[in-house]
Amino acid sequence: MAGEHGDAQLIDGKAVAAELRERIATAVSELKSSHGLAPGLAVVLVGEDPASQVYVRNKARQTSAAGMQSFEHRLDAQTSQADLLDLINRLNGDPNVHGILVQLPLPAHINSQLVLNSVDPAKDVDGFHPVNVGRLSTGEAALVPCTPLGCTILAKSAQPDLTGAEAVIIGRSNIVGKPVAQLLLRENCTVTIAHSRTRNLADVARRADLLIAAVGRPEMVKGDWVKPGAIVIDVGINRIDVDGSDRTKLVGDVDFAEASRVAGAITPVPGGVGPMTIACLLRNTVQAAAAARGIAMPEI
Ligand code: NDP
Repeated sequence: MAGEHGDAQLIDGKAVAAELRERIATAVSELKSSHGLAPGLAVVLVGEDPASQVYVRNKARQTSAAGMQSFEHRLDAQTSQADLLDLINRLNGDPNVHGILVQLPLPAHINSQLVLNSVDPAKDVDGFHPVNVGRLSTGEAALVPCTPLGCTILAKSAQPDLTGAEAVIIGRSNIVGKPVAQLLLRENCTVTIAHSRTRNLADVARRADLLIAAVGRPEMVKGDWVKPGAIVIDVGINRIDVDGSDRTKLVGDVDFAEASRVAGAITPVPGGVGPMTIACLLRNTVQAAAAARGIAMPEI
């Protein structure tokens, strides 16, 4: 890829995620041999959304590869909300299940928030339950949302101490923007959260030593939005048509060709934040399993 990313250091999410998964596998084998504890992750998929099926398959494969127990529950698209809540209730009470992940989106007849709120906060490895959201914002031990955790790990791989950095996050969703902001506050960044009503967005973005784009708009962040030397973490996953052909490709929220000429370090899409999400899910499952037994979280 030489020449394709200007002078910026390429933050290789695939490599960082692979290293994280290795450390997780080591921690899991320790937990098994010292405590007889095999962390277990249950994934619940309702319906046949093709993208969700791919995610669920990858999650199951990586869970087993890390030496953990994987439980898959595939329910058909007509499953009632009551039946789904019943299943979650059973998983909440199952001592072999330490983490529960309900794959989103759920079919329209199901109230997603109600379902997410029914997961035991101690098993909420997605970190979406209001109890974990609250704990994250008050600084208590919490299960932290996976993609935001992945963003923070990648930023720290480029600059281990982020203290005092001006961080600008574009996007204020509950699953990415807001939890990233909380995590970066913990890292002692000065945090700005921008969104669709932010005035002079390019000027705001240009202040950032650490710029996180979580918008869902292909290549919106241009090179002249980036402060020279900044770390740029691109969360966006957008499928666009390739000009002059009937093919499509994935691009981020950042114009990589332009931004990589200005940034100090940058994540590619694909191969940046994406691979970190499942690795962080496995990490959270180890954390939940250790906490369930009152064991200190292994060093990962
Ligand atoms: P949402 O649609 O929930 O949130 C998008 C945010 O971007 C909103 O806060 C919105 O502002 C803001 N926004 C939209 N348009 C603009 C604009 N023109 N200028 C400034 N801000 C704008 O998206 P998500 O947070 O769920 O996801 C963001 C991206 O990250 C998507 O591309 C998604 O695919 C990707 N993603 C990747 C993951 C991974 O790598 N594993 C996981 C999750 C998401 P407002 O609130 O004002 O409407």
